[in-house]
Amino acid sequence: MKTTTRSAGPAGEWAVRMEGVYKRFGDFTALREVDLTVKKGETVVICGPSGSGKSTLIRCVNGTERHDDGLIYVNGIEMTKANVDKVRRETGMVFQNFNLFPHMTILENCVLAPMSTLKMPRKEAEALAMALLQKVRVEDQARKFPSQLSGGQQQRVAIARALAMNPKVMLFDEPTSALDPEMVKEVLETMKSLAQEGMTMMCVTHEMGFAREVSDRVIFMNEGQIMEIEKPEAFFSNPKSERARLFLSQII
Ligand code: ADP
Ligand code: MG
Repeated sequence: MKTTTRSAGPAGEWAVRMEGVYKRFGDFTALREVDLTVKKGETVVICGPSGSGKSTLIRCVNGTERHDDGLIYVNGIEMTKANVDKVRRETGMVFQNFNLFPHMTILENCVLAPMSTLKMPRKEAEALAMALLQKVRVEDQARKFPSQLSGGQQQRVAIARALAMNPKVMLFDEPTSALDPEMVKEVLETMKSLAQEGMTMMCVTHEMGFAREVSDRVIFMNEGQIMEIEKPEAFFSNPKSERARLFLSQII
């Protein structure tokens, strides 16, 4: 195994940097020698077959999984045991299944973390939450409970809730996979406007239209490794690996 040199110090241009990252689950290697730099303001789409390590990669970036080897920096902060909470605060995560708290209203879902973690006064947190709910166009649902909203609305609330912590990097793990087809578009549109506003985003998604239109680079993973990092035009018109070719032929 390659030993990783500590070459990546805090750097102004990088939002996320991974160097020689490994993640193992027992004998199984889920991430192998992952090198990836995401620049500030960049949107990358991560795709690849099921089980290729996409979720694991994203989870290592927000510290939900601890990597075993290599280096991860988020916004210049090294992901170490001592820094996990600090690094996590730089990231906002949106999952496939929304993960809203079912017993809380939409507004309460959005004010919880700013009030408890950032010690923001309720009034300020509510004003912020309402502004973000407006931004994702669900402000009229603020007093309802998650179960009263459509899947697309819930996912937009999940995005607003993540934004309330003022993250520097937004991480999306198949945010539209659990949605009915007619709701996919509204969530992708929300993500597109975030990207256009300059948010740094790492999106695991099989929405290749989004990848083509919105991403700066496409990352193709297979068996725990990054096999290709390409601009979308290049990736879609001429994937380098046979594996990527096969993958594209199956999903497009
Ligand atoms: P993807 O998101 O690309 O479908 P994952 O990152 O979820 O893939 O998983 C990559 C591989 O790691 C899979 O083979 C999966 O079974 C394995 N894996 C993921 N999480 C765990 C875990 N907590 N324990 C054991 N194996 C895991
Ligand atoms: Mg996954």
